Amino acid sequence: SSVSGDAIRRRFLNFYASRGHKILPSSSLVPDDPTVLLTIAGMLQFKPIFLGKEPRRVPCATTAQRCIRTNDIENVGRTTRHHTFFEMLGNFSFGDYFKKEAIVWAWELSTKEYGLPPERLWISVFEDDDEAFLLWHNEVGVPKERIKRMGEDDNFWTSGITGPCGPCSEIYFDFHSERGYTDVDLGDDSRFIEFYNLVFMQYNKKDDGSLEPLKQKNIDTGMGLERVARILQKVPNNYETDLIFPIIEKATDLARISYPEADSVTKNNLKIIGDHMRAVVYLISDGVIPSNIGRGYVVRRLIRRVVRTGRLLGIKGDDHGNPDGAFLPVLAEKVIELSTNIDPDVKSRKTAILEELKREELRFVQTLERGEKLLNQFLSDALLKSGGNNGNKPCLSGKDVFLLYDTYGFPVEITAEVAEEQGVTIDMEGFDIEMENQRRQSQAAHSVVKLSIGNDVEIARSIPDTEFLGYDSLSASATVKG
Ligand code: ATP
Ligand code: MG
Ligand code: MG
Ligand code: MG
Repeated sequence: SSVSGDAIRRRFLNFYASRGHKILPSSSLVPDDPTVLLTIAGMLQFKPIFLGKEPRRVPCATTAQRCIRTNDIENVGRTTRHHTFFEMLGNFSFGDYFKKEAIVWAWELSTKEYGLPPERLWISVFEDDDEAFLLWHNEVGVPKERIKRMGEDDNFWTSGITGPCGPCSEIYFDFHSERGYTDVDLGDDSRFIEFYNLVFMQYNKKDDGSLEPLKQKNIDTGMGLERVARILQKVPNNYETDLIFPIIEKATDLARISYPEADSVTKNNLKIIGDHMRAVVYLISDGVIPSNIGRGYVVRRLIRRVVRTGRLLGIKGDDHGNPDGAFLPVLAEKVIELSTNIDPDVKSRKTAILEELKREELRFVQTLERGEKLLNQFLSDALLKSGGNNGNKPCLSGKDVFLLYDTYGFPVEITAEVAEEQGVTIDMEGFDIEMENQRRQSQAAHSVVKLSIGNDVEIARSIPDTEFLGYDSLSASATVKG
């Protein structure tokens, strides 16, 4: 009945193709760019063109780019709109059209092609971008009350610490237009969802933070496919769209529970599984192998979080009644089933992906069982020590957290999560000191990743590249360059 995620993607690409854009394939999640760890946006594959380092092959293009944003990992399930893995639909102009066409087409796509009611759409523009404000008002006819001027944080887009950037303008959907026009905050996610960002890419941000005008004015846009699907399919969050929900249903089968009857904690856990399973399948498919460094650590951390979350839901073993079997491959099969129009290459890599997941899951379950005992011991010690009423907040020492990490393979984020569930904090500073000590002692000093939940750019700077060796060596650990 309602429009499928696949149809939304296809209609976006066709809309821009019929306006002169070349449809290009998504690039890998592993970018050809040392300043970012993983592909965070559709523009990355075009960065050299935007910067004038490579000639454009076409004046404008459109893509459905698979993306990973590790900075949103904590948002998964907590907000209705964030994923670690998602698809970004984009239209790009390489010195061809600029603001006016980008704005007019974005509106036409949203209201005509997708049929969104115009009165439910709100616009943000960069605070001093009068040109964009007037285009929305005069060319498109959006009433001034629904165009908000916003500051740099929201409306000046940069792909990283350096690189092409510019003011942007976003389209928001209003789920509660009955709330009217007073005290409106577009950041209020109980009322609005940002779904389309138009970046007027006209500067290169240099190392010293200064903005150098680019030779050409470019357009870079991103529309979150899962967000549009959620609006058009009229479901309460991105996870319940046809792009993700089948994976969640598979997890409920394994856990023998029902989604509609689940409480909110259980639903959140199911959303984490639905989200992270997509991320790990596409990362492994793009050649990222679980390890303790860089991208490999991102996959490892996501896999381990799924394993632990699945166990919290009572999933044990595969769906053939084998309690020692792995369940990630079962969920991965569902992800792969849904992959045809996201990345047509995933299916051909199925065997290798499932094997890698099984190996990593079983490896982790072993350590998990030993580590959980120790962690629970540490937690009850910490709770005992704080004594409840002497004002000391219960806290795990950096040494303990490090022991769990180093000896038992407990990602520090998982330790933090389990601890938080019992009202215990962890001494991150102490942990960092232990890590630093180990790093200094270790010969391979460069192979340790900064574990804090920073953004990709920050992580990318502190770690070496992982090199993909091909599927024959999927079982071999990734090698480290330099
Ligand atoms: P938000 O403010 O909701 O975190 P953003 O401003 O960080 O989004 P952009 O960098 O503007 O997002 O990316 C362009 C589009 O990609 C967004 O408008 C949204 O539709 C989509 N998008 C961004 N981050 C995510 C995510 N973590 N999960 C799903 N879709 C996303
Ligand atoms: Mg964001
Ligand atoms: Mg935003
Ligand atoms: Mg945005």
